[in-house]
Amino acid sequence: MDITLVQESPFRFRMERQGPMRVPGVVFATQDLLPQAAGDKALEQVANVATLPGIVRASFAMPDVHWGYGFPIGGVAATDIDAGGVVSPGGVGFDISCGVRLLAADVDRGPLAPRMRRLMDILGDTVPRGMGRGGLWKLSGRAQMEKLLVAGAGYAVEQGHGVPRDLERCEDRGALAGADPSHVGQRAVERGLNQVGSLGSGNHFLEVQAVDRVYDDAVAAAFGLHAGQVCVMIHCGSRGLGHQVCTDHVRVMDQSLRGFGIDLPDRQLACAPVVSTPGRAYLGAMAAAANYGRANRQLLTEAVRHAFTTAAGAVVELVYDVSHNTAKTETHDVDGVPRRLCVHRKGATLALPPGHPDLPADLAGTGHPVLVPGTMGTASYVMVGAAGNDAFASAAHGAGRVWSRHQALHRVRGEQLRAELESQGISVRPSSWRGLAEEAPAAYKDVDEVARATEGAGLARLVARLVPLGVVKG
Ligand code: 5GP
Ligand code: MN
Ligand code: MN
Repeated sequence: MDITLVQESPFRFRMERQGPMRVPGVVFATQDLLPQAAGDKALEQVANVATLPGIVRASFAMPDVHWGYGFPIGGVAATDIDAGGVVSPGGVGFDISCGVRLLAADVDRGPLAPRMRRLMDILGDTVPRGMGRGGLWKLSGRAQMEKLLVAGAGYAVEQGHGVPRDLERCEDRGALAGADPSHVGQRAVERGLNQVGSLGSGNHFLEVQAVDRVYDDAVAAAFGLHAGQVCVMIHCGSRGLGHQVCTDHVRVMDQSLRGFGIDLPDRQLACAPVVSTPGRAYLGAMAAAANYGRANRQLLTEAVRHAFTTAAGAVVELVYDVSHNTAKTETHDVDGVPRRLCVHRKGATLALPPGHPDLPADLAGTGHPVLVPGTMGTASYVMVGAAGNDAFASAAHGAGRVWSRHQALHRVRGEQLRAELESQGISVRPSSWRGLAEEAPAAYKDVDEVARATEGAGLARLVARLVPLGVVKG
């Protein structure tokens, strides 16, 4: 397909329907943020997604869009469940319910400074990370795993890992509904038993940050944030369990495609009707894996609390926990009619507007927190859902890559990058030099522009800007 974008407004581009596309493509970006690197096929992927059976309104791309498996990362697609709409594992991604949790400490960066080194030492020593390492919580077997897969962060809290208030500040109160552990294979369970409470690899991190600037005092206060405050951002997902669930169900869907008469421009879009045996099985397993991801972030919160108490006598509270790799059943108006949709957000965050009934009570008037990590050497953002978001209340999830991991490895040396970051006052605890180099700040888009475009496009509003003080890398 010939990909032509027409600029509709300063932060919005449109890709007209053509060929097998059922809906247009819409890309929220500035000219500079559009995927340009040779080999980045993200825009072609936006067009491919537009061919999915049952897709409504448009195939959307957020300002951080870049090339992914089948669907672009930063892609949003909703299908009409009651009109043959499909669910596609590639529209969720391999790291099911990967997401970001933001914690706020009752200490400001000035007073913490003399204790920062100790804090980073403890975090570096106690936060499990890297490939194949164990986690903070070893589950006893499949029976216990099934409880966790159903109740997510709620099960972790019930078992003493956290406090009930934490759950009020989790999307879906810490557990995505509809989890069906019977569709999570034995291999997936085995991979997951020993990884609850672990970061995983490269792009995942635990970062100590400070609030550098507040844009909206009232919303920041509702989130429990003020200028100068120390925060911690945790980015991780469902580890080997989620990956295995995706692998297993992609295989099944790939085999059932012909039977449903579905024709796809790219095999990586393998899918099945939501209302079908493979569709239901995947959604049940996906929700279970999502709950694993949420419990994982809950466990890591414990390590943070322990480190802050020990190093600084400080208390840490949960601001919010959001996922950015999910497919959720939601009701949205389409052409003036409420429809039950399967909303795929792959590298995209839920961004409900103020007043939405699904918001936690104390944020009902504020809107859904949107957490946008940048890089370990630049800013990260806290934003909030805005009214009038036609991308099914979705927003950006990060800065988005411009260099592939391979390109980053060629251009950056881990040791040198660490020295540069340390000279800027950012303390770095890498897990490997290779992993560090792959995640170099230069490998990502300019997060300040991504945040500006996200606001400009009306997807979410700026609340606060965070800057890194120290990072524990996966
Ligand atoms: P993803 O979920 O797509 O792997 O990553 C989400 C986003 O996290 C990336 O787009 C990138 O902007 C951001 N990111 C990756 N590494 C770091 C880090 O060490 N610190 C911060 N603050 N953000 C990061
Ligand atoms: Mn992930
Ligand atoms: Mn992620």
